[in-house]
Amino acid sequence: MLGSLVRWLRMMGHDVEYSIGFDDEKLLVLAREESRVLLTRDLELYKRSTARVIDAVYVEGENEVERLAALAGRFGLALEIDLRTSRCPRCNTPIQPVPKASITDRVEKKTFAHYDEFWECPKCRKVYWQGAHWPKIRDTLEDAKKPREG
Ligand SMILES: [Zn+2]
Repeated sequence: MLGSLVRWLRMMGHDVEYSIGFDDEKLLVLAREESRVLLTRDLELYKRSTARVIDAVYVEGENEVERLAALAGRFGLALEIDLRTSRCPRCNTPIQPVPKASITDRVEKKTFAHYDEFWECPKCRKVYWQGAHWPKIRDTLEDAKKPREG
């Protein structure tokens, strides 16, 4: 349910694990062992977590902007994406710049012609660039930075 938020956090450079299919007990054990903050939309899980002194956030908000704003307020997140420090939104591995020549056949011709900077995930091999979707990403982050009530 929080998959989209997870991708945003990884793009902002945060180390975020995402588990679907783990039961609550396993999530709590992992959060403790790896000193992670548990993000959940499940109020029961949130309560169990805080009862065991595991840092947790009950994620509220109707959309990505509100959720990002809430997390930024709680953790002082910068709400900036710098691909030099981004993690792969798919698999959480830090992405690395790659020479344009090395991705020739891996992006569409138009993309290749239009952009010069590319990054690659060393684990899942996905290629990233600041494409046409970038202004929208910026807008979402700017929206999340605006002061809001509550
Ligand atoms: Zn990856």
